[in-house]
This record gives sequence, structure tokens and C-alpha cells, in this order.
Amino acid sequence: MSGFYRNLLLLGIALVGSLFVGNNINAQIKPNVIVILTDDQGYADVGFNGCKDIPTPNIDRIANNGVKFSNGYVTYAVCGPSRAGIITGRYQDRFGFGRNPLLAPQDTTQGLPLSEEMLAKTLSRSGYTSTALGKWHLGGHKSQYPLKRGFDEFYGFLSGGHQYFPEKWTLNDVTEIKTQFDGYNTRLMRDNGRVYEKEYITDALSREAVSFIERKAGAPFFIYLAYNAPHAPLQATKKYLDRFTHIKDKKRKTYAAMVSAVDDGVGLVLDKLEELGISENTIVFFLSDNGGPEQHNASDNGVLREGKSSLYEGGIHVPFAVQWPGQIPAGKVYEYPVSSLDIFATAAELAKATPKNKLDGVNLVPYLKGEKTGAPHSALFWRKFDQKFYAVRSGNNKLIRYKSDTDEIYNLEKDISETQVLDLNDENHYSDLKASYKAWESELKDPLFLGLRLSKKYNKQHPERFKMQSPYLIDTRIAKAPKGYELTWADEFDKEGKPNDKYWSYEEGFVRNKELQWYQADNANVSKGVLQLEGKKEIVKNKNYKKKSKNWRKNRKTAEYTSASIKTRNKFSFQYGVLEVRAKIDSRMGMWPAIWTLGVDKKWPANGEIDLMEFYQQDGEAKILANAAWANEKQQAVWDSEKIAYSEFTKHELDWAEKFHIWKMDWTEEYIRLYLDDVLLNEIDLSKTLNPDGFNPFHQPHYILLNLAIGSNGGDPSQTKFPGTYEVDYVRVYQKKQVK
Ligand code: CA
Repeated sequence: MSGFYRNLLLLGIALVGSLFVGNNINAQIKPNVIVILTDDQGYADVGFNGCKDIPTPNIDRIANNGVKFSNGYVTYAVCGPSRAGIITGRYQDRFGFGRNPLLAPQDTTQGLPLSEEMLAKTLSRSGYTSTALGKWHLGGHKSQYPLKRGFDEFYGFLSGGHQYFPEKWTLNDVTEIKTQFDGYNTRLMRDNGRVYEKEYITDALSREAVSFIERKAGAPFFIYLAYNAPHAPLQATKKYLDRFTHIKDKKRKTYAAMVSAVDDGVGLVLDKLEELGISENTIVFFLSDNGGPEQHNASDNGVLREGKSSLYEGGIHVPFAVQWPGQIPAGKVYEYPVSSLDIFATAAELAKATPKNKLDGVNLVPYLKGEKTGAPHSALFWRKFDQKFYAVRSGNNKLIRYKSDTDEIYNLEKDISETQVLDLNDENHYSDLKASYKAWESELKDPLFLGLRLSKKYNKQHPERFKMQSPYLIDTRIAKAPKGYELTWADEFDKEGKPNDKYWSYEEGFVRNKELQWYQADNANVSKGVLQLEGKKEIVKNKNYKKKSKNWRKNRKTAEYTSASIKTRNKFSFQYGVLEVRAKIDSRMGMWPAIWTLGVDKKWPANGEIDLMEFYQQDGEAKILANAAWANEKQQAVWDSEKIAYSEFTKHELDWAEKFHIWKMDWTEEYIRLYLDDVLLNEIDLSKTLNPDGFNPFHQPHYILLNLAIGSNGGDPSQTKFPGTYEVDYVRVYQKKQVK
């Protein structure tokens, strides 16, 4: 090695080294954020609030390592709106989320409005990777899925609650629900698709949280760990039930077991942070989304009045603690009222991330460190729109109107149980409280959607609520012709069974490129509105086998894979126009899906080939190709080819392969332009595509071919789990309107 190159190499090592150091410093400046949210847990159902019959040693670790909030509030007394407040850092009534959303998977409005930004999205701009685990309840339409709202990963369910045992998950996904509460019985989702989970749900969510920490530690991350426990239905495994033989009441015993399962999960998360040495670089919040519905799930709000859904303290005053070892004091009790809205503001500021919208919370860290004194909030507010109930707390006084036409004032410092109604006078700050509430209320929006309590009314207004097709498959977009064009041919693949034989025929056996698959009609089927070309690992005898043949199509005794290729040859062809294909490709190793056209006259390549899409491995890298080919003097192919690294697509959209995409060819006498999701990938100038004899293969009609090849350019499929599926939602051809 010459001195020059050695020095260059050393410089490279030094640069790489300094980059790593830079990353570490960066990671220390931006702490990881973990929000552990329980569902319907009572104020007094954690050890740090004095619980006697349910030990919660791990949840208590958070309070012991950090700060317990003795006046910690959420922004609403039931799940959905409270969560909308937490995840946006804004009072949910500011954006019309004043009701618990219905599970209505076809309704874009049942969920968090797109005007709002979730914490995951804000943090992503500061380099955070995030996951949402467990209960979502922020919208069941696919535009509202966690990966659409700024999370990088999701593992959980969309509905407002869920069955705890896998054997109860009898529905594949929200496409199969017929009633609001069917949402409790769906399989869990990973990202945008469904999975086959085997564990008790609480254990599964804890496992996923630990796995995320293991995978993401080293760069800043955010975990929204939203356990559905201990929300009804009350279900627990023997492992946890056996810990509570001392509790005789069966309901309370099961509830205790569910809380204990959460506590174990919290322990696993905290242990993992410690094991990886990142505890001091991670801020962990713990809270419940609303007070316990005591009658319903046997929770206990202790001295607080009433529970879930009430604006008395039992509904909105929750167990709440935070740890950030080495940064905020340990074992401290913080008494000023704080809000779940403060989680967002704190996290965003620590992450140096700028939220899109104005926040209602405050960064609590300076208060907890004692750098700022006094109350973080001049007042906290609550509104139940439909009932016209409200509450405001400022200082120690709380004004509330609840299940009554009259206002009440309580002094919470002296009377946290809200037993002594005070006079509505200025000594008790009545007019100030009322005025501050009115000022806040004037900034709010009416609810944008009908909520859980109005499910029947909603069903009447939306008779099609549960009539839907799988959101994982098709979009059922209506064909829309470009200006001056009309739809002249289409296959929407909307009839179950085999592809329409008026349009399509099948390729058979070994066909080209020494690919591994045996093409057969069996592997092409239409189901739920899409064409599925399925690659299978199965051995098929080669009908044309000749032991000593030099032809690879004959000298292979068997095929180890089967797949399908269908084409419109002799059934449909077109010349010029727009060909649009909506498809979802299997991007795993070994797969080589394609959309192409071939000229009807002459042999390949003189007939002309257009590849709207090919996906295959080249030089060890997956690529998406957009090509055209014609012939040279030797009857070999001349290519005009664009090859784009597949990572270019997935780096912007991690779940790119989970989705359908639109491949489009715009073909005129002058050019062919090939697009993917409206991005031009290649333009072929047709003045240059002449065969040596002067024949232009792109001035003749072409037929369409859809296929899933395996092996060859697709790469080695031996490590890939089969089947592999290539799905096509539709094929449409638009042509210029004929002038009459
Ligand atoms: Ca809840």
C-alpha cells in the first residue's frame, strides 16, 4: 500500500471514528422517550399511591427513581379524547375530538384530524424512531393507521379495547367486523398487516417494547406503550392470577392479575434500559388514560370521588409518575397540578423538535429540577360537550358542573374528595374560574364525529359502515381518464375465481431466463378484488424432461417452485395510450415480479418490449427497473433502461412494500414515459427505437403480460419463506378520444 493510500485509509478511519463519537453525544443530548399508558386503571391501584392488595414494584420503581405527581391529570374522563390529548399535546376539543371515536374503518373522520400532528411525527424531525404498541383508538381508517401518523412501527390493534387471549381473535382484521365491538376480536396488527400472535396480549406488548429497545438503542427513540390492561374484559392468565390467592372477590382478583402483568412488563422495559446502560438517557412516563370505572372493572380510585367518565377527581386525576435518572430528582413528590399534555411539551423540548401546532402543555423538567418555581399551569380545563358538563382547576380551587344545572366549587387542597361545596363567590374565585373557563371554551371546536354513545345514530346515517373490502388489499379507486382520453379497456379483477379468460391466457412450464419456477394456471387467482400471482415452493415434474438435452427447459427433471404468468396475447392489444397498473409486489429475495408489454408482430426482441415494472437483484442490490428493448443487427436486445435502487423507495416509506403502487406508461408516437406513483422513471425517445430494418416496434400494437418469476435475476430464493404473492388491483388502458 502506498503512503498516500495508507494515509487516506487512516483518515477514513478517523472520520468514521469521529462520526460514531458524534452519534453518541447526539444520543445523550436527545433522550429516548417512553410513555407507558394503562387503560382505566384506578388512582389508588399503584403502590406509589398506597395500593395494598396489588403489589406494583416495577411501576413504583418509576416513582422511586423519579417523581410522583400527586395532582396528575388527563384531559378527558374516557379513553379516546384523553389519548388524543396525550399524543398531540393539545386539548382535544381544539380539533373536534370531543367524543370517543367509533370503529368505522371506512370513515376518515373517525379519528385524529390530519391537521393534528402526533408526537412521533414531531420527534421524527429530530431523528427519533418510534413505535406505537397496543391500543390505538385514534382512527380505524387506513389513513389514520399509526404508520400514516408518524410512527415507524406499530404492533397492536385499532379498536378501543381488545380481547386478551389469542383464541378470541377470530376475525382477520377490521374488514371482517360487523359491529362496533367486533373490533375486540381481530388479530393483532404489525405495521399495516395482521399477524398471528400467540401470547397473552399484555405479555406480547411488553415483549415488543423490549425488542424495540434492543433494536433501536444507540439512536434516539420514542415508545408509546399503550397497554389495554386493565380495561374490560377482565381476563388474565394463571401465572398472574396465582399471585392473588389472597383476593377473594373474583373481579378484583382478575383485575389485580391484569395490573400485575403490566407491572411485569414495566419491569422488563426498565431492566432492558438498565442492561443497555441507557436508563439515564431515557425519560419514562407512566400514567393511566382516565380514572378507574370501579363498578365495571373493580378498580379503586381511593379517596377520589367517582371514576371513569366523571369530571369529579376520580375520572380525571390519575396515577402519574416520571423518571429520568440523573436528570430529575429521585423519590420526589410533585404537588402542583400537571397534565398529560405536558408529556408532549417535555419530550419535544428535550428532543429539540419543533411541533407543528401550538401546544397546551409545558416542559416539566425545569419545574422538577427546581429551576422554575410556582405552578406550571395557571389553570387546567375539561369539557364534556354532549352533556354540557365542564370543570376548571386553578390553584386549589375547582369549579365543576357535572350531572347538574348548577356550578360547584371545591377546595382540593383541603377536600380532594369533593365533599364540601363552597359558596359561589369571589372569595372562592367563582367569577375568575368561570371567566377563564369561558375564555378557553371560546377556542374550542364542536366534535367532528359521532362517538361511541351515538353508535346507533351513526349506523343509521352510515348503512355501509361495515361493508368493506380489505384495507390491506385494494383501494377501489374509480378509473379516471387523463384529459382528452377515455377508458378503452380494463380488468378490475373484481370477480372471484380464475382470471377472465376473455382477456388472459397462461404461460406454461419453463419459459425464459433459466428461471426456477414452473408456470401453471393454478397459481393465478382472483380474490377479494385483486389478482394474486402466487409463487410456491413445491416440486413439479417437468413434462418435457429429456435427460441429455442441452436445452435447460428439458434437462431439468423437476421444478422446485411454481408460479404464474398471464398475458393478453391474441385476446387484447393496444397501440398508444396510457396503461395503468396498480400492484403490490413481494420484494423478498428470489422474487422477480414484472409488468410488461410485447409487440404483436415479429420475434423478440424485434417485436419490442416495454417493462413498466421489473423488480430484481442486480449487483447484490434490489432494484426497480423501467425499460424498453428492441433489436440490433444481431437480433440481440438494445436496452433503454433505468434502474433505481429499491432502497430509494423504502427509505422514505418503510412500509413501501406493504402498499399498492401505481405503475403507468404514457405511450404516444413520439415517446414512452414510464411512471411509478406519478414519478417519471424513464422516458424513451421513439425516434431512436428502430430495428436495423427500419421497423419501429413501438409503432405497432402491444399485448400485456403480468408474471412473478422466481430465481435467476430475482436472486436466490432458498432463504425466503414461501408462498410469495404479487397482487394486482387493476389493469386499465386509456386512449385518446376519437374525434367524431
Ligand atoms: Ca380508558
